[in-house]
Amino acid sequence: MSEARRKKPDFIRQIIAEDVKQGKNGGRVHTRFPPEPNGYLHIGHAKAICLNFEVAEEFGGLCNLRFDDTNPTKEDPHYVEAIKEDVRWLGFDWGEREYYASDYFDQLYEYALQLIKAGKAYVDSLSQEEIRKYRGTLTEPGKESPYRNRSVEENLELFERMRAGEFEEGECVLRAKIDMASPNILMRDPTLYRIKKVPHHRTGNKWCIYPMYDFAHCLSDAIEGITHSLCTLEFENNRALYDWVLDQLPVPSRPRQIEFARLNLSHTVLSKRKLLKLVQEGHVDGWDDPRMPTIAGMRRRGYTPEAIREFCNRIGVAKNESIVDFALLEHCVRQDLNKRAPRVMAVLDPLRLVIENYPEGKEEYLEAINNPEDPSAGTRLVPFSRVLYIEKEDFMENPPKKFYRLAPGREVRLRYAYFVRCTGVVRDPKTGEIVEVRCTYDPATRGGDAPDGRKVKATLHWVSAAHAIEAEVRLYENLFTKRDPNDVEEGKDFTDYLNPNSLRILKGCKLEPSLAQAKPGDRFQFERLGYFCVDTKDSKPGKPVFNRTVTLKDTWAKVREKEVSLKEN
Ligand code: ATP
Ligand code: MG
Repeated sequence: MSEARRKKPDFIRQIIAEDVKQGKNGGRVHTRFPPEPNGYLHIGHAKAICLNFEVAEEFGGLCNLRFDDTNPTKEDPHYVEAIKEDVRWLGFDWGEREYYASDYFDQLYEYALQLIKAGKAYVDSLSQEEIRKYRGTLTEPGKESPYRNRSVEENLELFERMRAGEFEEGECVLRAKIDMASPNILMRDPTLYRIKKVPHHRTGNKWCIYPMYDFAHCLSDAIEGITHSLCTLEFENNRALYDWVLDQLPVPSRPRQIEFARLNLSHTVLSKRKLLKLVQEGHVDGWDDPRMPTIAGMRRRGYTPEAIREFCNRIGVAKNESIVDFALLEHCVRQDLNKRAPRVMAVLDPLRLVIENYPEGKEEYLEAINNPEDPSAGTRLVPFSRVLYIEKEDFMENPPKKFYRLAPGREVRLRYAYFVRCTGVVRDPKTGEIVEVRCTYDPATRGGDAPDGRKVKATLHWVSAAHAIEAEVRLYENLFTKRDPNDVEEGKDFTDYLNPNSLRILKGCKLEPSLAQAKPGDRFQFERLGYFCVDTKDSKPGKPVFNRTVTLKDTWAKVREKEVSLKEN
């Protein structure tokens, strides 16, 4: 159980515990996660998934997976599959309970007929534009449609003709007859059905009228016996309508809607519309681009489901909206990978290091620890030889004061190997660029310690040139430079805040040979460089591509203050 979860239950769990205590719904708890299959799931959805599935489990109840597929123009079965894969990968199981709002279209149509018969719904023939004008504003009441008082018979006939395809899109809609003067604009005779002459990915051409979210969602919940319908705060005003619909109809159960604050994450966007735009305009390489805040992108980047779930537990559930710092998510990823990722050595920006007093042709195998956090991970043997690669930035010919790594005359430790002392450099005769660093080693320091007790100020990672394998490595930064890219200045678009350095591709990186066995999806810590995983899409046998999942530098300290202030609210 996560640290966060052992604390006081959040307001939703308190409400549910109270309902159970009072014996509502016979003490049953049944939730659902209701994605619309019009895009991939993102980290905000992960928050809703964790909440719904974990609450159900804690109260001994069930959680359904329901596709809210009432808008065929934007939906696609490909998204259905992607969503199922993501929920499963996060570690949740909906058992047999995979449902679709479209499975209820017949039943929903019946309910609509009942509303008409009860004089609580009517077919409106105003245009969309007129309906908008008649709706009024926050300060002014709306105006009743001239079609509002059609007879039940006329409404039944017109609605049947809508269903039969006799009208064009926008020619008429079915509206609830509630109150055009309601202070809640959503209650001013909301639309229940509209005409869309679009085939549906599950019902084909059977329907050309489709129910609106506010009509379909509450009734789907009721049909499935959902007890607690958890949704984000933007649906707060819809609750009155949710309850109104359920109050008018003989539904089999009476669910309760509870709203919580959506997750906002810094330096990214969490709206499917915006994410789709990034994909369609080619700003990223698909929904599963490792820079995307999607579950699929994070999986490809190397995040673990455990880290994402821990993140969701830590942010908790509340009523107040805030922006959570991306660094908190990275902190959770780092903590999880620290426990499980084997350490290896890799050089991203190679510089040759030649050990002058090490015999040519000799090689030896040095023992390296696989994971200091996990002794059961054991050790491995890493080949060492006369010519190595070190990181270009680990050498400076004229080092400034605080540079403690390799420089002419200076001695450093090569991790798991020996002390080496720099004796000079070799330059490219044309460009003058340093192409090789020369050094000598002290055979008495094998394993990395000097018997005479002398110290060095730096330990470098390295790879034996003759044994190294080559790889492409991709480094990532935030997708957006602005903390809140949703906050768009006038005349700009959120894409104007994309970070031009969000992806850096390094070719010809040198890795220790044990990585030849790495499989797509495997995760490692490259010592001193961060956590990396083998890309599942672009890696080829013998030509691995590694994604940097996260750096080793934890910027969480700054975030911590923010988390504290979140809790105090
Ligand atoms: P988006 O705003 O990205 O388009 P959506 O709400 O339209 O998302 P749905 O597929 O309808 O996407 O969402 C399924 C469920 O996930 C809903 O219950 C919704 O409230 C919840 N959800 C969506 N975004 C977030 C978020 N950022 N934080 C928490 N829950 C979210
Ligand atoms: Mg939605």
